[in-house]
Amino acid sequence: MTKERSKLPNVRTELFIDGKWKDGSEERVAVVNPATGEELVKIAQANKEDTKRAIEAAKVAFPIWAGMELAERVKILHRIGDLIEENADRLALIMTLEQGKPLAEAKAEVQTNIENMHWNAEEARRVYGETIPAPNNHKFEVKKQPVGVVGAITPWNFPSNMIIRKIAPAISAGCTVVLKPASSTPLSAIALFELFEEAGLPAGVANLVMGSASEIGETLTESKDVRKLTFTGSTKVGQLLYEQSGKTLKKISLELGGHAPYIVFADAAIDEAVDTLIKMKFRNNGQACTSPNRIFVEESIKEKFTEKVLKAVQNVTVGSGQEEVDAGPLINEEARETIDAQLRDATEKGAKILFGGSRMDEGEYKNGFFYQPTVVDGITRDMDIFYEETFGPVIPLLSFNDEDKVIEMANDSNFGLASYFFTSDLRRAEKVSSALEYGLVGVNNSGVSQSETPFGGVKFSGLGRENGRQGIEEFLEIKFVHTSYL
Ligand code: ADP
Repeated sequence: MTKERSKLPNVRTELFIDGKWKDGSEERVAVVNPATGEELVKIAQANKEDTKRAIEAAKVAFPIWAGMELAERVKILHRIGDLIEENADRLALIMTLEQGKPLAEAKAEVQTNIENMHWNAEEARRVYGETIPAPNNHKFEVKKQPVGVVGAITPWNFPSNMIIRKIAPAISAGCTVVLKPASSTPLSAIALFELFEEAGLPAGVANLVMGSASEIGETLTESKDVRKLTFTGSTKVGQLLYEQSGKTLKKISLELGGHAPYIVFADAAIDEAVDTLIKMKFRNNGQACTSPNRIFVEESIKEKFTEKVLKAVQNVTVGSGQEEVDAGPLINEEARETIDAQLRDATEKGAKILFGGSRMDEGEYKNGFFYQPTVVDGITRDMDIFYEETFGPVIPLLSFNDEDKVIEMANDSNFGLASYFFTSDLRRAEKVSSALEYGLVGVNNSGVSQSETPFGGVKFSGLGRENGRQGIEEFLEIKFVHTSYL
């Protein structure tokens, strides 16, 4: 295996406010490579005043951007998509270095960005209004208009796509944006903003502030000028932002945690169910809110299924994302501690680790945050892992022998984002997909996230939808106009 590794490409390290790159007012903060523990670079940090300047820039730019000839706006949006495509390798390398995911996955994420950008550019042309039958000499008209300035806060697990997923529909709708990316992955954000500038996005339309999450979060939520907040991250922070946004009555979208059930019925195509589980579980090393976290297997096939899973997990390769591996490191030490704690609790209560179960600290793994691919069997409802989101490479197995019971168990969660099940019975496919209290259901597949389909959750997994024709609606306000022809 070659150890020749690429260095961090030249990338800016400043804030981007009103079309200019600026140093922040606070001390710079390091970005760390989670595969090696090494510092990559130090990044400028915004304080409240910097954030307020960014909001002001977005406010000033809003009427200009919203009023721009639509064809011109669409052209700029497509140009951003084209530039992302031209810079795909660079964006992917930056992402792998700061976040850890394998390069192939980083490239796939950039590909999703390209699709999201072009999709939303075209959606800008389809912001249809309505006319409603009215009395003679009157017109009832429903118009859709951009909400105004948008505050966006994004997480580190998909450091590039979570930004495009928000900014693409926002600016397509005619809104302007202030973005705060996750502190551990600001470089992917900066690299995208370099392309926004190159594409000719007017000054102030998209502004970038890195820095203290609570300070920037408060400034965005307190501002009356910010009319919409869009957030992806933990349920805890989502609840806080929802509360904070109440004072200024913002529109809000929250894409929060998940704890996806993955149900395999005895009549399922078992090999496909195993392959899909492995693909989904080790995607981003389990650090995804759609990751299968509770694997319910019908008792009569449990042994066979477990055997196949164990065989597949043994082949999962772990290492630096710059090598050709299936799984990279976790994001930080805390992530490993959470997994250790969940596994400790489960085994103390009777669960059995069938494979893995430990950190990887030796040799090439020494300074990174690596964890063994893990299979744990015998999960029950008294264990934390049944209810708490697992953000890592752990496959927890449960068994069941009754359709209604497994539906009840799958729904026994505060979360309601993604769910999956495998069956070859059409009647069951209908029944179970209706009964699952989740915003996303994969039946015999895991494809719950595409540019053209609505993504989002119910219950503690959040509010609103991203992607699809519903995605852009989140950034639009409805206006009713009644005209009399006097
Ligand atoms: P995770 O770290 O699991 O992605 P978080 O909710 O902690 O989930 O982080 C998601 C984003 O929310 C990050 O950009 C983080 O900096 C930001 N964040 C964390 N705490 C706050 C807060 N109090 N107010 C606003 N944003 C926050």
